[in-house]
Amino acid sequence: MRLDKYLADMDFGSRKEVKQFIKKGLVSVNGTVVKSDKFQVNENEDNVVFDGEPVVYQKYFYYLLNKPAGVISATIDDYDETVMDLFDDEDYRDDLFPVGRLDKDTEGLLVITNDGALAHRLLSPKRHVEKEYYAQVAGMMTPADVVAFEKGLTIDGGEECLPAKLMIDTVNEVEETSEIRLILHEGKFHQVKRMVQAVGKEVTYLKRIRMGGLSLDETLDYGEHRGLTEAELVLLE
Ligand code: URA
Repeated sequence: MRLDKYLADMDFGSRKEVKQFIKKGLVSVNGTVVKSDKFQVNENEDNVVFDGEPVVYQKYFYYLLNKPAGVISATIDDYDETVMDLFDDEDYRDDLFPVGRLDKDTEGLLVITNDGALAHRLLSPKRHVEKEYYAQVAGMMTPADVVAFEKGLTIDGGEECLPAKLMIDTVNEVEETSEIRLILHEGKFHQVKRMVQAVGKEVTYLKRIRMGGLSLDETLDYGEHRGLTEAELVLLE
């Protein structure tokens, strides 16, 4: 690929900016200063150095974010803070985006990447990648609800849901509340909230705790992110 693209991909500046850096002689390839932005480099073999600093080429970036409530799952918005606004460090790149959406008031696991193919695979309705949620509910969930979820619920508007695994962790008979975990194989709009509503209760708190083989890292504070490890990436394949 062209040297200016290589450096722009690695976030050293816009194509225009990196062309200037190259012209100034700040960039060398395999020990020789290169002043042509059209110079072809092999990203797997060539040794590119910018201002004395080796530049290892990486095309795709993958992060695990613990989304807090109050921010929206978008890259840019005029009114609300977005999940990308939480990337206020050197990890920020303008081609990053969240894989799928969590509601503004939902917390938990969100994958952030610039790999469109991975996003497509994770969200494809054909692949049925599991998503697991933890929810607090107003109302007492029952064994009959577990059966109804397993059969496939019809939610408001007549939409049919695929069978889902409902696990009732606690039921508080005094306060009439429950804690549940729910495993879905699809991602309809407000799906967890609407499924719980379909059995006459209400979600009061919602957090995604797993997507495919990737679990939320509970050591991440709300709003924090970290790069995915090689092993975690394999789990998403
Ligand atoms: N289901 C919901 O209702 N909301 C979410 O954010 C995710 C799943």
